[in-house]
Amino acid sequence: GAPFDVNLIKRDFPILQEKVNGRPLIWLDNAATTQKPKQVIDRITYFYEHENSNIHRAAHELAARATDAYEGARKKVQTFLNAGSVNEIIFVRGATEAINLVAKTWGEQNLSARDEIILSNLEHHANIVPWQQLGAKKGLKIRVIPVDDDGQILLDEYAKLLNSKTRLVSFTQVSNALGTVTPAKRIVEMAHAAGAKVLVDGAQSVSHLRSDVRALNCDWFVFSGHKVFGPTGIGVLYGKEDLLNQTQPWQGGGNVIQDVTFEFTRFHDAPNRFEAGTGNIADAVGLGSAIDYVNKIGIDVIHQYEHYLLVYATGLLKDIPGLRLIGTAPDKASVLSFVFAGYKTEEVGAALNEEGIAVRSGHHCAQPILRRFGVETTVRPSLAFYNTCSDVDVLVEILYRLRSTRR
Ligand code: PMP
Repeated sequence: GAPFDVNLIKRDFPILQEKVNGRPLIWLDNAATTQKPKQVIDRITYFYEHENSNIHRAAHELAARATDAYEGARKKVQTFLNAGSVNEIIFVRGATEAINLVAKTWGEQNLSARDEIILSNLEHHANIVPWQQLGAKKGLKIRVIPVDDDGQILLDEYAKLLNSKTRLVSFTQVSNALGTVTPAKRIVEMAHAAGAKVLVDGAQSVSHLRSDVRALNCDWFVFSGHKVFGPTGIGVLYGKEDLLNQTQPWQGGGNVIQDVTFEFTRFHDAPNRFEAGTGNIADAVGLGSAIDYVNKIGIDVIHQYEHYLLVYATGLLKDIPGLRLIGTAPDKASVLSFVFAGYKTEEVGAALNEEGIAVRSGHHCAQPILRRFGVETTVRPSLAFYNTCSDVDVLVEILYRLRSTRR
């Protein structure tokens, strides 16, 4: 069972009291976005009611409050990721913007024709398209690490792709479509041994696994606030401090500069050099509060409970006749992906919605990995710590009912 009181936890999330089609909402679309506890919602309100200002510490009292709140959130992210310095934490809109930032700065400035980038077959489109765009512009070669029939990275095949032209390996720590946890530390080590830099996409891992950028030793790490119980429109790029300071900014404007004349601009060091203009101050503060919330339960406790739920759900789903689970790696986080004989995935999604259950049915912005398994779309229930075995039971019951009405 749960090592904490799940019903108490559920009460922290106002939206989980909603009714959908007359039924209590069961939120199983956590891989798309997570719900927000009252603590986060209240923190954002508090900011606008008591602290709102642009951040320029010295100007006046509210500026000092807003700056302290914003920089306090940066500190929380640093600790959450176990980064060595707050200067390594850059606030952006989300994982997508963070990856684009790296492609459009470091990538633009350092890669040239015939250099190679390695991605994995598991990647979200956010970790494919920016590299493809850069590749087309520069004449780069993009190579792809294949996965086995369970959806696990093939390290031997990866080793064969690495060579002296490999400049970057960019991969996800957890697959959003299958839930596979990748052997991230090993992938990073092998990339570094070949002289390549490494970006880890933590969008699907931060809410389920302990994040430790120093243990991983990756060069960049990205995630989105909204997938870790924080607001939308805020996310993080972590980068090693030297590397960030050796990279030229992508956007010019206020906040990034030390000195400007009409002829010349001298930029700040990180993080300011990558935070041009007025950022999403309130939501950064909200993200800090989401991290506090996760820490209060404890990420290891969350991991353990979600694993238990995942094993429970997997056991029940795989016994349903005509249900094919896609992504059967032993090491998985949160995600169950399946197709159901006799039904289109959107029909399953609609039937579940009728009963108040929210799941994603679609391609999950990860078309290459679904095609690897011969499908275009799947039904994807995905779990968080506020889900329960009884949520899973309702899902399973409806699937059995669908089974009995169409064979
Ligand atoms: N990477 C992965 C693995 C994801 O699951 C997602 C979101 N589905 C993203 C990147 C992009 O995140 P965002 O849309 O918040 O920028």
